[in-house]
Amino acid sequence: MGAISAIMTKDDAILSDELNHASIIDGCRLSGAKIIRVKHQDMTDLEEKAKTALESGRYKKIMYITDGVFSMDGDIANLPDMIPIAEKYGLITYVDDAHGSGVMGKGAGTVKHFGLNHKIDMQMGTLSKAIGVVGGYVAGSKLLIDWLKSRSRPFLFSTSLTPGAAGAALTSIQLMQDHPELVDKVWENAEYFKNELKKIGYDIGVSQTPITPVILGDETMTQRFSSKLIEQGIYVKPIVFPTVPLGTGRVRNMPTAEHTKEMLDQAIAVYLNVGKEMGII
Ligand SMILES: *Cc1c(COP(=O)(O)O)cnc(C)c1O
Repeated sequence: MGAISAIMTKDDAILSDELNHASIIDGCRLSGAKIIRVKHQDMTDLEEKAKTALESGRYKKIMYITDGVFSMDGDIANLPDMIPIAEKYGLITYVDDAHGSGVMGKGAGTVKHFGLNHKIDMQMGTLSKAIGVVGGYVAGSKLLIDWLKSRSRPFLFSTSLTPGAAGAALTSIQLMQDHPELVDKVWENAEYFKNELKKIGYDIGVSQTPITPVILGDETMTQRFSSKLIEQGIYVKPIVFPTVPLGTGRVRNMPTAEHTKEMLDQAIAVYLNVGKEMGII
């Protein structure tokens, strides 16, 4: 919210993937720019809308904004195909990598994963997910960062991180750099967990990352399913409309580097039990 609204104004337009995170949508709204929704990961649609926006001559700046890893489905943004379109139509590029940092690109994020460091204007991430603390960051040119420091109202007019949180985040990043095996372990655990869920018959969607949704569909059923898992010791929260589209209710699993194979097997056993009991699998 603080970064988008400091850069974009009512004279600008923002091309925004339709499945972007709520904080992106709120940031776009706060900026007052024209918001143009782009079909999810559809580069043809992006190109058409970028062309129309540019040729209309109505906007001073046009930005394309996307999640690096989409938070509800776990699919990865198609940055390599997006870049040529951004270059052709002069788009500012912005990647919200809340779910990519600490996971993709050996921990450095989705942009690094694709080797596109110098092609993305703004990278934003959180310190609250893989880093495990609280807070967030924006990375970009020095000029951009200086501008944000003096123009980002949500940043200027709120309290900064506590020293404790900053210290914990630094230590966490240091740990990640010293122990790349932790990042490997997240992927290994996710791979195992996803395969086991698939084997017993669950729909885990299109995830390409450790985010592991189990898609159930009906909203009420999803909530019942989640309660039953919690009763049997597996804490997974239900995610239903309007957070995700109607009829695509799901529970979302986040395997971590700390899970042991025994824990994952225990979770799978509960999934098997509850799924059978409710007639889902
Ligand atoms: C979680 C999330 C955020 C917000 O991060 P916080 O640290 O909770 O403020 C922003 N963007 C995306 C894509 C997220 O998934």
